[in-house]
Amino acid sequence: MTEVPRFWREIPQRYNLIGNKCRKCDWINFPPRSICKKCNDHDFERFDLKGEGKIITYTIIRAAPLGFEDLVPYAIAIIRLDDGPRITAQIVDCDSSEVDIGKRVKVCFRKIAEDGKAGAISYGYKFKLV
Ligand SMILES: [Zn+2]
Repeated sequence: MTEVPRFWREIPQRYNLIGNKCRKCDWINFPPRSICKKCNDHDFERFDLKGEGKIITYTIIRAAPLGFEDLVPYAIAIIRLDDGPRITAQIVDCDSSEVDIGKRVKVCFRKIAEDGKAGAISYGYKFKLV
C-alpha cells in the first residue's frame, strides 16, 4: 500500500511516548516490546512516559541524509528519560553548541517529513532543552 495508511496507523505512537511496563519486574520498555527486555516476560500494561530526561551523550550532524540538508548542523542525543528508558532523538529549538551532556530536555512533536505526492506530513518526537 501507499505511505498514507501506514502514516495513520502510526499516529498514536507518534503523538505520545507510549511504552509498556512489565507486570513482573516493572521495567518500562520503550518503544513497547512484546517481550520484556529485562526479564523476558510478556505481561504488560501501557505506560505513558512523561517525556522528560537528560542528555547522556550526543553527536552533532553536519552532513545530513537526503531530505534533511536544510537542518544541519543539528544534534542527535541519547536521552535518559526520568521514567527509565533511553531514547535517541534530535534536539531542536537551539543552537547545536548549546547541547551538552547532562542538560535537561523534554519531548516535543515536530514535522519530520513531507510527502509531496501524497500530501502527507509525518510528525514525530524530538526533544528541546528546558
Ligand atoms: Zn520484565
